[in-house]
Amino acid sequence: MTTISSPLNNFSEMEKAHFSGAVPRRPFTLVRAQGARLWTDDGREFIDCAAAHGWANVGHSHPTVTAAIQRQAATFVATHEGAFNDQRALWMAELSTALPGDLSRIQPANSGAEAVEAALKAARFFTGRTEIIAAKRGFHGRTFGALSATWNKKYREPFAPLVPDFRHVTFNDLAEMEAVISDKTAAVILEVVQGEGGVYPGDPDYFAGVRRLCDERGALLIFDEIQTGMGRTGKLFATEHLPILPDIITLGKGLGGGIPMGAAVWRDSLGTLDAGIHGSTFAGNPLACAASRAVLQVMRDEKLPQRAARLGDWLMTELRAIDSPQIREVRGLGLMVGVQLRGRVTPVLKALADEGIWALPAGPTVLRLLPPLVISEEDLQTVVEKIRGVLGG
Ligand SMILES: *Cc1c(COP(=O)(O)O)cnc(C)c1O
Repeated sequence: MTTISSPLNNFSEMEKAHFSGAVPRRPFTLVRAQGARLWTDDGREFIDCAAAHGWANVGHSHPTVTAAIQRQAATFVATHEGAFNDQRALWMAELSTALPGDLSRIQPANSGAEAVEAALKAARFFTGRTEIIAAKRGFHGRTFGALSATWNKKYREPFAPLVPDFRHVTFNDLAEMEAVISDKTAAVILEVVQGEGGVYPGDPDYFAGVRRLCDERGALLIFDEIQTGMGRTGKLFATEHLPILPDIITLGKGLGGGIPMGAAVWRDSLGTLDAGIHGSTFAGNPLACAASRAVLQVMRDEKLPQRAARLGDWLMTELRAIDSPQIREVRGLGLMVGVQLRGRVTPVLKALADEGIWALPAGPTVLRLLPPLVISEEDLQTVVEKIRGVLGG
């Protein structure tokens, strides 16, 4: 049901009276979503090119996911990991089957940042070392551990001091990595395609080199696939584009089909954590697990990774064909696409919103497109035409 704002019921003013201020709001009140479409309280419609901030890979209100959530909500919403549970057991089995290699030891979490926390703690625990190496422009979340691995000063500086023993190196620069990984390094954490930092795909040779250095020096390799996972880049997990696997993978965003959920998954050969050293009240709750099982089923049934590969190639070809002095470069993998502009992205986002396209920035000068993988070809065509119109091609 759609709720309409009225002078007595003005949602934006109501939120402004209470919000923390940390997340800037666009001047819209979103009240309903379906597939790749969003609607506001005053009846405006958008094509969602943000997958509602990167999570709606199966689209909004997918019938299979909705049915699973409704069924499970009426059965058993939450129980702590302190007891076994049918939905959690099935989800763990299905997720580990979907993941490549022996990535099959699962620590559930309630968000992406929390999955990163679990991965960092597991890396320190398994290696007995403390140093974490992350990449410049990398983004891993906003809790203290995840924030310590995140690069952007704007997110970090107001909250210093952060967790000790984190350092940042240039992404895609193997020589720099070689110079810093040592016998003190617990883990290297990288995104396969840097998302928030500007949509920068990593080079397969770089990842193969980092893998070799980690093996030589006894460090673990963590891939943060919170944004690149769940079909986004044209494979179910972006590591499947590469000749190597990480020791630990972090998942979130699309994993729960909109129900908050994350997971850190590591190689079975690393072993298990000591009893009692980690946990969270809601982590691995049956509602999220049931939703995630439905997401995995939809990924398979609708072949969404393949669809992302095909539509992503088409989208990048079309965008590269736009003749605009404002476009410096188009880059990406699957349906994770960045348009590097010569100027600032904010006015472009505003102009696109006026045209009914909801897109994201990735830093100050990159337009980021992360549509739901179920987006229709007609809608994607419309997106291209609107971008061509706005960027004046
Ligand atoms: C979004 C994101 C996170 C943080 O996930 P939250 O659920 O917002 O905490 C971490 N890493 C990457 C790569 C992300 O894109």
